[in-house]
Amino acid sequence: MVHLRRKILVRSGLLNQLRLNVRWSSSLKIRDKESIQPERSFKSSDLSVRLAAPHQLQPKPDVSALTFGKYFTDHMLKVFYYESLGGWQAPEITPFENLVLHPAAKVLHYAVELFEGMKAYRGIDGKIRIFRPELNMERMNTSAIRSGLPTFNGNELIKCLNRLISIDQEWVPHSEASSLYIRPTLIGIDPTLGVAASDSALLYVILCPVGTYFKNSSKEVGVSLLADPRYTRAWPGGCGDRKMGSNYAPTIHVQREAAEKGLQQVLWLYGYDNQLTEVGTMNIFMFYLNENGERELVTPPLNGLILPGVTRNSILALGRELKQFKVSERKITMDEVHRLILENRLLELFGAGTACIVSPISFIDYAGQGLHIPTLEQPEPIYKMFLKCLSDIQYGYITDHPWALPID
Ligand SMILES: *Cc1c(COP(=O)(O)O)cnc(C)c1O
Repeated sequence: MVHLRRKILVRSGLLNQLRLNVRWSSSLKIRDKESIQPERSFKSSDLSVRLAAPHQLQPKPDVSALTFGKYFTDHMLKVFYYESLGGWQAPEITPFENLVLHPAAKVLHYAVELFEGMKAYRGIDGKIRIFRPELNMERMNTSAIRSGLPTFNGNELIKCLNRLISIDQEWVPHSEASSLYIRPTLIGIDPTLGVAASDSALLYVILCPVGTYFKNSSKEVGVSLLADPRYTRAWPGGCGDRKMGSNYAPTIHVQREAAEKGLQQVLWLYGYDNQLTEVGTMNIFMFYLNENGERELVTPPLNGLILPGVTRNSILALGRELKQFKVSERKITMDEVHRLILENRLLELFGAGTACIVSPISFIDYAGQGLHIPTLEQPEPIYKMFLKCLSDIQYGYITDHPWALPID
């Protein structure tokens, strides 16, 4: 107990210091945000609940056996939208079950689909928290706008989610090595083949317990990347800044090519100058010594090619408040990475996203050339510092942090 208290004190020191002067931005500032119509929404006060019968309850898997997205909880949330019935219908929590769709449903033909990825964490005090959910709601609504799907009031969905998680709370693992992944999804279900806005839609949320990557593994390994200039994930005027299903299907073949070369993820490049944009489904950060010999953290700007990550936003905010190094959002090219390696000025490269929070990068295969990245060789790497800061907030080592919303 004494040991635990001391651990909490040590861990929260840095964050307490941060909390004093941070002006926590509560927006990802994505374009099109103005078009969200929060007044045309379903209401959490209309939520109905149909609980699973005892025989429908699934056994909970052992924490050590958690594979991403394989096990689902006992309940789900559904909200239908029918233009002809006045729009959003009453939200309902039901037992986890299959969906019935018309074979012409737009989602099945034109990928009229978008999703979100967030997590609920069981803290050291036993309380369950979700991390900055209002940012996921903002992003989900901007994805909806680009897909011609209806928008909604994010706070109402957060309240419905709260209830769903509370009903399935025993599925939130009692372990800091894991969490409950939350997958809100919005699909167009109009039973007509025209390429047009869908007059009917289904918003649903499913939950699955997942493991995290680094906790309890004594030996850390960095990820290896395939950077192949022949492929691109996003382009100006496209949808790279929206979490839409149609962005991910075309990446699977490239991911498989990486795997065949023994590499774990794809480093997505863009343009004649081979700009680094994202790594797998994570945002990318570089930490290096700049021309003036200062330490600097950089990540590509939100120029439409980059998914506006909640983790990215949080790392930038923490980095700026720490004031221990320069922080900038600007273009990074493969030429620059190459030169920094040759001049021994590249310190760290890492990916950032909800799935594994931060993921250190140790190798890039760039057009057949192997680039060794010294992320794991730094004595006090900043990727680890960010991982610790964020998990301290998520697992309640620091109480009442404005980024952690407790579930009641
Ligand atoms: C989801 C996602 C991210 C990370 O976003 P978070 O909000 O931090 O989880 C980054 N890049 C892509 C392509 C993504 O799909």
